[in-house]
Amino acid sequence: MLVGDAAGQAKPTSGGGIYTGAFAAKIAGKVAANAALEGDTSAKRLSEYDHLWRKGLGKELEIGMKIHDYMGKLEDRQLNDLIGSLNTPSILNTITEYGDMDHPSVLMRKLMFSGNSLRLMKAFGTFLGTLFEEPGRAQRI
Ligand SMILES: Cc1cc2nc3c(=O)[nH]c(=O)nc-3n(C[C@H](O)[C@H](O)[C@H](O)COP(=O)(O)OP(=O)(O)OC[C@H]3O[C@@H](n4cnc5c(N)ncnc54)[C@H](O)[C@@H]3O)c2cc1C
Repeated sequence: MLVGDAAGQAKPTSGGGIYTGAFAAKIAGKVAANAALEGDTSAKRLSEYDHLWRKGLGKELEIGMKIHDYMGKLEDRQLNDLIGSLNTPSILNTITEYGDMDHPSVLMRKLMFSGNSLRLMKAFGTFLGTLFEEPGRAQRI
């Protein structure tokens, strides 16, 4: 049962893996303990861990990976333009209120479905529309 960086649980947006690793470790401990008590430590029984951590973190990591890939392809000038276009009181207030480095998708949703959506569409283009696509269409992490 792999946990933490070795399991690919670090956040693609920052490389931070303490929260995600601890989240998954708690699940791993419970599944391992229950499996031992039941006398069934087969791969099938322990795969409950894989299912549960992906359920809890998978979507957030998947969205983080999309953001990482998108940002990584920008030239310096495009990055400056992008950050500059976010510099409005309304957007800054939303970032202050909902920004959470462990759950960037919460902020992205708030920004998208607010009065700022036109400005954001202009800044991010079609990328924004792909952020919340259903799993399966995006690459599995
Ligand atoms: C400079 C820096 C700053 C960071 N800042 C943050 C931050 O602010 N917030 C955040 O969330 N994350 C941060 N991270 C990331 C965070 O440290 C990792 O995501 C987290 O420590 C991963 O925990 P882990 O237990 O998976 O792996 P690790 O902490 O890397 O633990 C793995 C352990 O296994 C040991 N090991 C390796 N191979 C073997 C072997 N063959 N046999 C026995 N032992 C072995 C290693 O020595 C190590 O002690 C930062 C990372 C770095 C490098």
